[in-house]
Amino acid sequence: MKAAVVRDFTAPLTIEDRTLPEPGPHQVRVRIEACGLCHTDIHAARGDWPVKPTPPFVPGHEGVGIVEAAGHEVRHVRVGDRVAVPWLADACGRCDYCVTGWETLCLQQHNSGYSVDGGYAEQALAHGDYVVPVPHGVDPLDAAPLTCAGVTTYKAVKVSGARPGSRVLVSGIGGLGHLALQYARIAGAETVAVDVTDEKLALARELGADHVIDARTQDVAAETQKLGGADAAISLAVSSASFQAAYGALRRGGTLVLVALPAGGKLELPVFETVLNGTKVVGSIVGTRQDLAEVFRLHQLGRTRVIRESRRLEEVNACIEEVLAGKVSARLVFDLR
Ligand SMILES: [Zn+2]
Ligand SMILES: [Zn+2]
Repeated sequence: MKAAVVRDFTAPLTIEDRTLPEPGPHQVRVRIEACGLCHTDIHAARGDWPVKPTPPFVPGHEGVGIVEAAGHEVRHVRVGDRVAVPWLADACGRCDYCVTGWETLCLQQHNSGYSVDGGYAEQALAHGDYVVPVPHGVDPLDAAPLTCAGVTTYKAVKVSGARPGSRVLVSGIGGLGHLALQYARIAGAETVAVDVTDEKLALARELGADHVIDARTQDVAAETQKLGGADAAISLAVSSASFQAAYGALRRGGTLVLVALPAGGKLELPVFETVLNGTKVVGSIVGTRQDLAEVFRLHQLGRTRVIRESRRLEEVNACIEEVLAGKVSARLVFDLR
């Protein structure tokens, strides 16, 4: 089977022919139909973060495909089912995080395309209890971006406390932000979209943003304060300046939700204002299996739209360059069918 492999953090990925993996008792083997390219995959391939994966490895945590073989202990899914293989490859299932709905914080977790091989391949092994069924009628090319970009922003909107009548600012209307904006609207919030390209600002308007701010020419904090300030700001742009602007846009009691991970990113907070204003700052990492099931259901119901472009797996290195150059206006998805 064909796979895109990271052999060295300083070299391009190589397309290799690997032997077909056999699933263990609790595993399934998934014939991958589609896998999205998330910025995290680039960080993985380049060893950007303090905890690094060990080459050789196969990136990808937005894999979607059909279960082709299942170990004898697998009960939750069957051969022939369409499933998603998300970032949370598996967790211990017993710690306080796992049993209280915070499996994404489990210290024993494994991560697809990072600590275990992921979806940049024709076939991938996954834990039978941690794959998430993709409902009928959801296109695999849509399901792939929903598996990370979707669930990550859906969870961030939940964590933000968005509700009818609240005002939510979404900073960065790209692969993640265009979904965050839609989830904030589903939650009933008044939405403020911030970006720095005409194309993305137009997309925000098209998706129904109540207010659109061009951070190139407008002061994000001042403009949002004119509206009364944001109850929550979700930071998805990979830029430290956008974090500061999002913080400044909050009203008293507001919540800043950090999601984007700029390499070495730092946020400087004025203690006095944070205390006096009762500001909350919270990090949000992906989402649980239940969150992802909800994301798929919303899409099946026609409540969300995924903006994406498909590519061949052989184009992986060119795709990475495209993303790094900021040339893509949508999620890139490898179509492996
Ligand atoms: Zn991701
Ligand atoms: Zn655990």
